[in-house]
Amino acid sequence: MSFYSPEFVTCNDEKFKVLITKEEIQKRIAELGEQINKDYKDKKPIFIGILNGAFIFLADLMRHVSIPCEVDFYKLSSYGDEKVSSGKVTERKDLDADISGRHVIIVEDIVDTGLSANYIKNIVDRKKPASVSFVTLLHKPESIKYHIDVDYVGFEILPQFVLGYGLDYAQEGRNLAQVYVLDED
Ligand code: 5GP
Repeated sequence: MSFYSPEFVTCNDEKFKVLITKEEIQKRIAELGEQINKDYKDKKPIFIGILNGAFIFLADLMRHVSIPCEVDFYKLSSYGDEKVSSGKVTERKDLDADISGRHVIIVEDIVDTGLSANYIKNIVDRKKPASVSFVTLLHKPESIKYHIDVDYVGFEILPQFVLGYGLDYAQEGRNLAQVYVLDED
């Protein structure tokens, strides 16, 4: 199967180049899946994907998980259509599953300032799960403003705007199979 993975892409009139290739992404996700298989053996975790950005990462990650598990989704929005965070989080869809007493793994596309992660952690904590952990494909440690413990990180990146593999720019570019960054050249 060949996924959409050009070397350069233009999105909303701006040019982007590859930052993390599809091979690097898939290799790292397989490692994260293996780690989760070990850490959650006999715990039947429930993955909570944060929409929209995490849907592709979650789909690939879950296919590397071989222990019994479930999935549900929570929808947040914080970026609007810009390249910098709006600093406001809006809830757009709550969970359907009852997570009290469950081992919850929250799945994010990217942790930037940490605002969304803290927001969702508070909501999940109030529902009295047995445990909560965080997995994110991308983490920008230099951008953190709200502390959050992230248990599983795919890649640490610099504080730069990225696109692809679920992450959008004004709703475009989620279908790219690699992670892209602005091409300043
Ligand atoms: P935070 O609340 O940590 O500042 O931001 C989290 C959300 O902002 C992510 O789930 C994602 O939707 C969006 N976001 C943060 N950084 C980027 C980025 O570099 N590119 C894109 N496309 N979205 C981002």
